[in-house]
Amino acid sequence: MENIAYIGIGSNLGDKITHCNDAIKEVSKHRGNTILEVSSFCRTEPWGKEDQNWFVNSVIKIKTSLTAPQLLRFLQGVEAQLKRVREYRWSPRTIDLDILFFNDEVINRPELQIPHPLIQDRRFVLVPLNEICPQLIHPTLNESVRELLERTGDNKNVIRT
Ligand code: ATP
Ligand code: CA
Ligand code: CA
Repeated sequence: MENIAYIGIGSNLGDKITHCNDAIKEVSKHRGNTILEVSSFCRTEPWGKEDQNWFVNSVIKIKTSLTAPQLLRFLQGVEAQLKRVREYRWSPRTIDLDILFFNDEVINRPELQIPHPLIQDRRFVLVPLNEICPQLIHPTLNESVRELLERTGDNKNVIRT
């Protein structure tokens, strides 16, 4: 069974670009995964908890034989391997890997929500996502990524590099 997933990647500790590249490399190493697209790496203003370093953010599109819960566990393993430490909500991190979309599935469990519930409120997600899939329709908001980007209330800085 082949699935299409979009993954949000972020880092704001240490060598951020290397951490993002290492995460993409780890995702590609799993034999069930194929990387289909990688957005530009963006320098982004911190969102939610603002007194911390700027981030590097990117979005990738993959084909995967994993189910959504299996992909979540796999990504958590990659985060652990890249020395992600969880201190508090939105604390600085070497790497963060979020499942944004998984096919057109809608999942609402405490440990896994798909689509990721904050996509529409985050330019750091919408700008790179819009580069690789502007026409993709959000399965519960029923609007395209391009429309979500045009309408978002977020005005934080996102600088494509
Ligand atoms: P945010 O979710 O607001 O971006 P965060 O990424 O900093 O915050 P984490 O500490 O990385 O939050 O994750 C908290 C929990 O979110 C994880 O333990 C995971 O089970 C859960 N979670 C729910 N939905 C998703 C998803 N779509 N992708 C990744 N994790 C998810
Ligand atoms: Ca996140
Ligand atoms: Ca996360």
